[in-house]
Amino acid sequence: MKITFLGTGTSQGIPIIGSTHPVCLSDNPKDKRLRVSVLVEWDDYTYVVDCGPDFRQQMLRANVSKIDGIVFTHEHADHTMGLDDIRPFFFRQGDISLYAHKRVFEALKKRFDYIFTTEDKYPGVPSVIQEEIKNEPFLLGNLEVVPIDGLHHKLQVFGFRFKDFAYLTDMKTVPDDEILKLKGVEVLVVNALREEPHMSHFNLEEALAFIKRVNPKRAYLTHISHLMGFHDEVQQKLPENVFLAYDNLQITL
Ligand SMILES: [Zn+2]
Ligand SMILES: [Zn+2]
Repeated sequence: MKITFLGTGTSQGIPIIGSTHPVCLSDNPKDKRLRVSVLVEWDDYTYVVDCGPDFRQQMLRANVSKIDGIVFTHEHADHTMGLDDIRPFFFRQGDISLYAHKRVFEALKKRFDYIFTTEDKYPGVPSVIQEEIKNEPFLLGNLEVVPIDGLHHKLQVFGFRFKDFAYLTDMKTVPDDEILKLKGVEVLVVNALREEPHMSHFNLEEALAFIKRVNPKRAYLTHISHLMGFHDEVQQKLPENVFLAYDNLQITL
């Protein structure tokens, strides 16, 4: 299985438009972060988790020519606003499969009504197949994926376990029985916004405590704010099996 970090930044991305914060001005490519998303590939399958405003750029940058579907964690704009840019995939492949909670589909139908309408479609508008997910295992290609149900302040959000790899973002609270589903995971990705506490995201301390509980071989932090600091400085402070993810990072397992 190959994982590509397409984006590792929080909702505004890094740099933030117009910001003079030192991290936003950094020349280090590891300090430049598109909105959060990962590409998960195994056998001949290619799935994307979330589809934010940088989706087009991310597909070009990672040289993706075919996708088998998009899996959504939740409906926030930084995770969904690139949906119109599935068009090149739709033109080549036909209807694109989307996997999401029922509530997320309701939000997508409001924002992208022209994609979901079945009558009188404007030429060139993409079509999708809605695969509703509940908090129970579902099939992606030949793999059973296990949702991890958590809370993002008060909003329900799904993380996903793909065999020995788990990807959780925008989590603030994960119930004990959901943490059990992560037992034995080799690589865990989890959100860590910054050092200061935040109402709806793990801060660094909470993310590290969560990693300790799950006890994976390796963990990567994502959904990072410029307030977290420079990549190279933050990395030095982390435990030896914990890494700050960065855009374009690839891992195989
Ligand atoms: Zn987010
Ligand atoms: Zn969110």
